[in-house]
Amino acid sequence: MSVEFVVHPSDHPLAAAERAAILAAPGFGKHFTDHMATATWTPDTGWRDRRVSALAPFSLHPSAAVLHYAQEIFEGLKAYRHADGGVWLFRPEMNARRFARSARRLAMPELDEESFVRGVEALVRADEAWVPDGGSEHSLYLRPFMFAAEAFLGVRPAEEFVFSVIASPAGPYFAAGVAGVTLWISAEYTRAAPGGTGAAKCGGNYAGSLAAQREAREHGCDQVLYLDSADRNKLEESGTMNLCLITATGELITPGLGTILDGVTRDSVLALAPDHNLTPVERPVTRAELSEGCRTGAITEVFATGTAAVITPITAFRSPTDDFTVGDGAPGKTTLTLREHILDIQYGRTQDTRGWLH
Ligand code: PMP
Repeated sequence: MSVEFVVHPSDHPLAAAERAAILAAPGFGKHFTDHMATATWTPDTGWRDRRVSALAPFSLHPSAAVLHYAQEIFEGLKAYRHADGGVWLFRPEMNARRFARSARRLAMPELDEESFVRGVEALVRADEAWVPDGGSEHSLYLRPFMFAAEAFLGVRPAEEFVFSVIASPAGPYFAAGVAGVTLWISAEYTRAAPGGTGAAKCGGNYAGSLAAQREAREHGCDQVLYLDSADRNKLEESGTMNLCLITATGELITPGLGTILDGVTRDSVLALAPDHNLTPVERPVTRAELSEGCRTGAITEVFATGTAAVITPITAFRSPTDDFTVGDGAPGKTTLTLREHILDIQYGRTQDTRGWLH
């Protein structure tokens, strides 16, 4: 069976001058390229009709399962243009595997790793002109996703699915230089429970996070830090990023997997830690350890990891019961060095000794 996506070029691509104007100031998630990749699945045919064609709306019956029961998963990764003009993906097989794990949890058909990567590649090739120059952290953000398209109102796994990839040029996350953010430790809302869908990248998790994110904003914070729903003393992750702490004794600590998302950036940071004289440690971290460690200096830096911003320094925390600052309230030195290290690999400014570029 072929996993190739057949290309049907758009007959109405955006004019080069208009594309250039968008690429000069793309923002995030606002503009989309000329094409999309799609494939469809039914129990009888399996995955079929892999294609890249002009970006177009989907036509869905109002009873389509995704609209009622949120049987949907997605991924996020980027294509980076190197100084020599070449275009590279960063560890796309990690996203492919996570997509398959998310599919299993949501009782959706798995898409094999090769088809996932071929779909992403085919779209990037078709829309190569949309990959911005790599200077100042521009990239092409790629959004693979899958949803239940079957028209049927019963609550059971659907029997018709669409896989798709769309692409959106992205500007630098921190346009005015890397800035620290403040996290709101939510007392009311949790994100995931044991046995739930916290480790899956499904749309429903993000729908459920929006009220907490609004609460964080109302308290002057940028993002939520979620606590473990079974043990509210333990830290989990933020709404779209994993959490890492650096200690005065040279450890890089991050909560273990289970009810959090297995982040590609988190995994990469753990792998790079020894290069920065840090010992990577995956273990539970308590709230008290965080607040006391920040007060005594036992914790020297805190940061969050995710594809969009790579590494975001966390410089303060707020909660209904206490406020505290990390270090002197400025982004940590090691945090910024780690950030640069990953960007250097992604943009081809240093040798990719781990085979992470594709
Ligand atoms: N946690 C959550 C809940 C996320 O949505 C993301 C973004 N995918 C992450 C962590 C970071 O994952 P990654 O490094 O793979 O982008």
